Amino acid sequence: MLSIPQDAALILRLCRQAGHQAYVVGGCVRDALLGRAPQDWDICTSATPQEMLRIFDGYRVVETGLKHGTLTVVLGHNPYEVTTFRVEEGYADHRHPDQVRFVHDVREDLARRDFTVNAMAWSPEEGLVDAFGGQEDLRAGVIRCVGDAATRFGEDALRILRALRFAATYGFRIDGETAVAIHALHPTLRHVAAERIRVELGKLLCGRTAAEILRQYPDVLHTILPETRAMYGFEQHTPYHHYDVWEHTLHALDAAPAEEALRWALLLHDAGKPETFTLDAAGVGHAYGHGKISAEKAESAMARLKMDRATWEDVTSLVEKHDMPLPVDRKLMKRRLRQLGERRLRLLIRLQCADALGTGNCPREAAEQLARARLQLLDELLAEDACVSLKQLQVNGRDLLAAGHPAGKALGQTLERLLEEVMEETLPNQREALLRRAGELAREGGPHGQVE
Ligand code: ATP
Ligand code: MG
Repeated sequence: MLSIPQDAALILRLCRQAGHQAYVVGGCVRDALLGRAPQDWDICTSATPQEMLRIFDGYRVVETGLKHGTLTVVLGHNPYEVTTFRVEEGYADHRHPDQVRFVHDVREDLARRDFTVNAMAWSPEEGLVDAFGGQEDLRAGVIRCVGDAATRFGEDALRILRALRFAATYGFRIDGETAVAIHALHPTLRHVAAERIRVELGKLLCGRTAAEILRQYPDVLHTILPETRAMYGFEQHTPYHHYDVWEHTLHALDAAPAEEALRWALLLHDAGKPETFTLDAAGVGHAYGHGKISAEKAESAMARLKMDRATWEDVTSLVEKHDMPLPVDRKLMKRRLRQLGERRLRLLIRLQCADALGTGNCPREAAEQLARARLQLLDELLAEDACVSLKQLQVNGRDLLAAGHPAGKALGQTLERLLEEVMEETLPNQREALLRRAGELAREGGPHGQVE
């Protein structure tokens, strides 16, 4: 017995009462059987689009997908996609069916779905409909195409990436025949829209066995993210690293929390290493300035994949600064806080921890202890509301002008100088002291030096 939300049960009942078959289907059945909370409950029914419109007359519906058989029924605040049983035909572009045809048998509808674990339906009356051994594969932890793998990937190349994504998310393995077809057909992923690649790859990267899956399918990644190609098998010739660049990247990914920006940044942080690599006279490898080159590669990858702006900026910034020194030192940490902001600094601390663990030469306890010490210092600075921005300074430009400070460029320079001295803890962040110091600076003929 599957436990399904009341709203979904209501939709099934309304379809049944009108004389049609109806099931919850696909990802929600898979997740419910795995004991995971489904993201959304999809429903399939023998009712045609016109019949659905009659059944849900009086309910809030959205008709956008109706031509392809999908009606969205909104109950409470939750949208439910209700789709007529259908088969899909002709995939000239390796992605979209040229035509959909409505059918009467749920098994035909299940046969068009990508993987056995995604091809199960359930209703309170019939229980589980599992025509392709989905339950068995779920139990064994296997991703397997419904039908002939090469044919199914030939129809829609995105399925290749979905296979990797599901395997990484659930820690499943990919069945032999399905794996062979993936290795043979991944170049067709070039036909898939960048946004779809980005979404699937993002989910893959956050999967619990992401590193292991990427280790098994580097060829797929090279097709969709050519920036990673040069890392593969690239030896580092340095005592700091136990692994080549690609293996290091995978170990670092494995060590990082499943946060998307962090995982993307780790995937690309050393992409510039091969290009900047030099061997010194002693035969030791260096990659001076690789952060900047990696950041350029990350930038072009983010642009090509049409990444959302916030993640894009996090990723390129983290990649560029991944080697930035972060000593456990009040004054330096304040500078970093000023440069990066709290959120990104926290990400960088965790990225550096994963990066260190990924060398294969850094004891876990040491890396984690360093990260904890950095985070604790950061928390202390935030708790005391340490001044790291002009906004937090207890005087502003107007105060200085009112105190007779000359206007113009010098004003801004004085404020910067005050902030620097406050951050250096040579000047208290107190109004009187700041005004006095501003007066001194004006008499000295303007400030010297800049905040980093
Ligand atoms: P998620 O948990 O990410 O939502 P999902 O399996 O529900 O995973 P959806 O994209 O929501 O994925 O698709 C719902 C269902 O539709 C799938 O479970 C599968 O049965 C079918 N499906 C989705 N995309 C494809 C595809 N490209 N080819 C074949 N069937 C697909
Ligand atoms: Mg879904």
